[in-house]
Amino acid sequence: MRIAIVGGGLAGLTAAAYLSDRPGVQGTVFERSPQLGGRAFTYEKSGFTLNFGAHAVYGIDRHTLLNMENELKLRFHSKQVDKRSVVYAKHGQLTPAPLDFVNIMKTGVLTTMEKFRFVAEIAAVITNIHHLKNYPTLGEYLNQSNASPDVKELWEHLVSSNFFITPEEARKVSGEVIAEYYHNLFLSQKPVNYILGSWSTITNQLADKISRNEDWEIAVKEPVESISMENDKFILNTKTRESLVFDQVIFAMPVQQIVKLLETSPWSSALEPYKNNTSTEVLVYDVGFSKVVNRPFHYISDMNNKLFISDVSATDHTVVPDGGQLLQGIAYLNDDFADENEKKQYLESKTLQMEALFDAYYPDWREHTVVKRVSKKAMVASVKNIQSNKLLPVQLAGTPFFFCGDGCEGKGELAERAFSSGRKVAQTILANTSQTRELSYS
Ligand SMILES: Cc1cc2nc3c(=O)[nH]c(=O)nc-3n(C[C@H](O)[C@H](O)[C@H](O)COP(=O)(O)OP(=O)(O)OC[C@H]3O[C@@H](n4cnc5c(N)ncnc54)[C@H](O)[C@@H]3O)c2cc1C
Repeated sequence: MRIAIVGGGLAGLTAAAYLSDRPGVQGTVFERSPQLGGRAFTYEKSGFTLNFGAHAVYGIDRHTLLNMENELKLRFHSKQVDKRSVVYAKHGQLTPAPLDFVNIMKTGVLTTMEKFRFVAEIAAVITNIHHLKNYPTLGEYLNQSNASPDVKELWEHLVSSNFFITPEEARKVSGEVIAEYYHNLFLSQKPVNYILGSWSTITNQLADKISRNEDWEIAVKEPVESISMENDKFILNTKTRESLVFDQVIFAMPVQQIVKLLETSPWSSALEPYKNNTSTEVLVYDVGFSKVVNRPFHYISDMNNKLFISDVSATDHTVVPDGGQLLQGIAYLNDDFADENEKKQYLESKTLQMEALFDAYYPDWREHTVVKRVSKKAMVASVKNIQSNKLLPVQLAGTPFFFCGDGCEGKGELAERAFSSGRKVAQTILANTSQTRELSYS
């Protein structure tokens, strides 16, 4: 069986690594960029390891990466972000973020009564998951709740940081999704970890595994341009080759790009309900310093301006040269603008707000800056997991393909959904293949 995987990001590489583990399965991973990794692409500059996206893993002890580590024999280390050094800033006041029960009791965002109330709410989520599950959205749950406005704001803020959406959008996440996510996260002993050495630690191992099987090819700089079907086989045309024949095709790219690629194909109507899905876009401001300028905390979230800064090197020392410091600032962006000019001004104002946050906590940072990268339109989640969006199932009625990626149905959010849907697709194909073999022997 020959399988084409379109996209060499976390999802495509995961699917390929599982499939290439099985004898008799051949395949090609097509990646349009010169390098693998997609939005988890990592590169070195002046001794700093810059990630296109951060490499935080939420609840690693209950994460899909744990299955992959065992099943694919991946070897990586991770380190927990020091929970006591994660702070929220509200109206200029700093307070520990309510990541667990100890931090909740310390946080200054809530009054003592509200702290108990919040702990009770979280305990209820853990013990009585069905309660929140019954609400169409977090917003509707909060509307009927008699909790104080601060407790409600905290819920929005927590969901905003875990789901990478604005606090307003947090209200639109379905009750079922919230209940499941926080059930998992609050039971985790390790709420936030960094993969040491960044995502490339994982992508390099997945790519090595695939390359060790000579029946598999990784084709970079080779975008797939069209797909058709003849006699139950898929015919792919890429930028450099024509009429490549495969038995199965897996799309491992953002849904919006799949819709575009299949726009004029017979399958476009099946994708119609997914066409208007919205993604989360952020402004990313990475800065590497020649020395540790200041380390008042490891993560700060500015609740008023919806920005946060992670001192990545406080947890992952491998991403900096000796003595250096690497910060990643992220600002959530609104996406409703009257015109391009308004958008430009908004992005300028967000950049200035971010620089003001650096100024406040990292004095003289500009003098020690060795590397700087500002990306004004980074796509974090290709599909925001809010009620008005529809995640793409890994198999869609009306199409003969498989789908995986962070816009697909799967466990967790963000990168975990890319990993879990990639794994699911591979396992489904392998299970179907075994069944076909058994049937042909019987
Ligand atoms: C700033 C930022 C911070 C983030 N922080 C975190 C975090 O802390 N924790 C976390 O879990 N996640 C985080 N993420 C999200 C995470 O990076 C993504 O969820 C994940 O990388 C998505 O992987 P994917 O394989 O689904 O998609 P992608 O990475 O988008 O991969 C799709 C690939 O398909 C390729 N492609 C597209 N079209 C074609 C074509 N026609 N032919 C061939 N190839 C094609 C693309 O070039 C790309 O390489 C962050 C993302 C960003 C941007």
